[in-house]
Amino acid sequence: MRHSMGHLASGVVEVVCGPMFSGKTEELIRRVRRAQIARLKTQIFKPSIDDRYHESKVVSHSSLSIQAVPVRNSVQILEKLLDTTRVVAIDEVQFFDKDIIAVVKKLARRGIRVICAGLDQDFKGNSFGPMPELLCMADHVDKIHAICTVCGSSASKTYRKPEEDCDEQILVGEGDAYEARCRTHWDAFEEDEDLLAFSLPLKSAHTKSEAVVNAQE
Ligand code: ADP
Ligand code: MG
Repeated sequence: MRHSMGHLASGVVEVVCGPMFSGKTEELIRRVRRAQIARLKTQIFKPSIDDRYHESKVVSHSSLSIQAVPVRNSVQILEKLLDTTRVVAIDEVQFFDKDIIAVVKKLARRGIRVICAGLDQDFKGNSFGPMPELLCMADHVDKIHAICTVCGSSASKTYRKPEEDCDEQILVGEGDAYEARCRTHWDAFEEDEDLLAFSLPLKSAHTKSEAVVNAQE
């Protein structure tokens, strides 16, 4: 898009990150809906690895959904891009190859608003795929939180239940395999959890009232 002055309108790169259940997909859908209300042509992409609920839809854990185009790699986003598109949303962006950085840059250079949502960390707490670079190059970053399934405080981590004996980073599971957890309850090894419950500093840091305050943030 060109302004009347002749220079290119600049795009913008937004990243929404956080653990599972933090509302990344809800937030992506909210931003897309608002863009659609503004009558901006919007396209939503998702990696085809993530077919948990629906092949051609992005679906949140709270069952919000929106039509999406599944793509096998990041370059396919450029191939499927329509000339009139002003807003591109990409969900589960952590699953893309490292070319996603160049693709997002290219979209922004065309004046497109790019909204990316993805896990910043895997269940081990390591950075996920292209996320570090994407977070760096973004114009806007939101790190959002879920609710810890153990204590109800703010959760920034994804916990994989120990029953899942697979050690791979990617186990596209139904919600059952994963839980959102605060740092304390994510860090605890199973056998240490009882001990943690009796440890004074931890107990005081996670009183019920504080958890409730956090949950209301
Ligand atoms: P994400 O894309 O980050 O995994 P979603 O947008 O799909 O998250 O889902 C967010 C929704 O998940 C919440 O609005 C809530 O209804 C539901 N939910 C289930 N468990 C939790 C939890 N532990 N913390 C927060 N929300 C949860
Ligand atoms: Mg999601």
